[in-house]
Amino acid sequence: MSFNIGVVGTGYVGIVSGSTFAETGNKVLCIDIDAEKVEKMKKGESPIYEPGLEHMMQNNIKAGRLNFSTNLEEAVNFGEIIFLCLPTPPDEDGSADLKYVMNVASDIADIIIKNNITENKIVVNKSTVPVGTADKVTKIFTDKLGEDNNVFVCSNPEFLREGFAIEDAIKPERVVVGTSTEWVGEKMRDLYKPFLRSGNPVYIMDEKSAEVTKYAANSFLAAKISFMNDLAAYCEVVGADIDKIRMGIGSDSRIGKRFLFAGIGYGGSCFPKDVQALNFSSKEVGSPLSIIQSTEDINAKQTNRFFKKITNRFGEDLSNLKFALWGLAFKPNTDDVREAPAFKLIDKILAAGGKVIAYDQEAIPNTKQKFGDTIEYANNMYDCLNDADALCIITEWSEFRTPDFDKMKSMLKNNIIFDGRNVYELDEMTDQGFEYNSMGRKLIGG
Ligand code: NAD
Repeated sequence: MSFNIGVVGTGYVGIVSGSTFAETGNKVLCIDIDAEKVEKMKKGESPIYEPGLEHMMQNNIKAGRLNFSTNLEEAVNFGEIIFLCLPTPPDEDGSADLKYVMNVASDIADIIIKNNITENKIVVNKSTVPVGTADKVTKIFTDKLGEDNNVFVCSNPEFLREGFAIEDAIKPERVVVGTSTEWVGEKMRDLYKPFLRSGNPVYIMDEKSAEVTKYAANSFLAAKISFMNDLAAYCEVVGADIDKIRMGIGSDSRIGKRFLFAGIGYGGSCFPKDVQALNFSSKEVGSPLSIIQSTEDINAKQTNRFFKKITNRFGEDLSNLKFALWGLAFKPNTDDVREAPAFKLIDKILAAGGKVIAYDQEAIPNTKQKFGDTIEYANNMYDCLNDADALCIITEWSEFRTPDFDKMKSMLKNNIIFDGRNVYELDEMTDQGFEYNSMGRKLIGG
């Protein structure tokens, strides 16, 4: 069974969802307000760096299943299922700003009135939204179209990981659907059937539980990271090694191996804002989640902790010093720099009078938008080291894992590495003669 699908918002979630729905035989019309982006996508150019995406877009455009427009009206007329993949950025108080979602819902209602549309429409919230949003969106439709309208709002949170988005969208470990209307749940089950051939489940639940599931998932993962980062600080004081502890606990299947790496902290467009939004919501309803508050507090300290390693070594005044940064994206395999720890570190180095030269496989264009020519950019990882006083490793791209250490030493002014991702073994650093300061492990050569 195939569907006509409208996707509103073609950022990381929208373009990946649209392309994978088209890949499984549906006809998809993707809408974005950014006309330049839409023109690029029509030509088969991906607006983001995501492995495998551009190829999939091109195949489906060629097959006539994937189209793009700036006109919401076309999507509302076309789609029996309309996905909202819109931004939900943090408001000043930390709550999720729902204006994009609410405004588009209101526009959809107006289009339904204008075009006198009488067939059923399923409006799906794929954006990460706070508990109660499905009710608020439903109210927009009942206010504008009356109680007995033909719009069915459902919640379908997205769990894809940037960098693995196609794989995650094509083979999700689970699909969560929040709806209290049985036939809507069944339609969504049919839509996702081709993605779940290996037997992974669709969980159909009420809208509120679906909305909280998404925040709970991201906050739990963020809490794992913050737990390890807090423990890493403790390890540095007592002389233990966080990586040995990671292996010691991660092999316990109750704990699991993933999301246990200590580092300079989590970033990206999801964890920081989702942890903040859940924290805000829990306080707002008078049931504060103290573990979520701690998760946020610990993460906020991580760039300071890393920067302190630099000032402990070089002093508070960094003028006349140049720092090479490997990695700008908030994690490998993406060009996404939203809430990137690298950006916070660059701000601190510049504020202390230091200079920065940076290299990242994919994220330099996005970084230039923020830092312009206040920092230098290198064309490759080795050029980045030329005459630098120290190297800071901020994103664990694969190419940094097995470098030519002799070449590094010949380029760097001092053989000093601050490693925010614990990329190298301590023994190797000792053998190579680097001064090596990593997270939650002993200082080598200092
Ligand atoms: P994004 O900022 O990359 O993309 C949003 C897109 O919506 C942009 O292209 C923007 O131009 C477009 N847009 C804004 N207003 C519009 C309008 N009125 N009409 C049409 N298009 C409009 O966002 P994203 O990263 O794709 O995230 C979208 C939602 O999904 C957020 O709630 C996010 O928390 C959630 N989410 C993101 C990820 C991720 O890895 N990025 C994963 C899971 C869930």
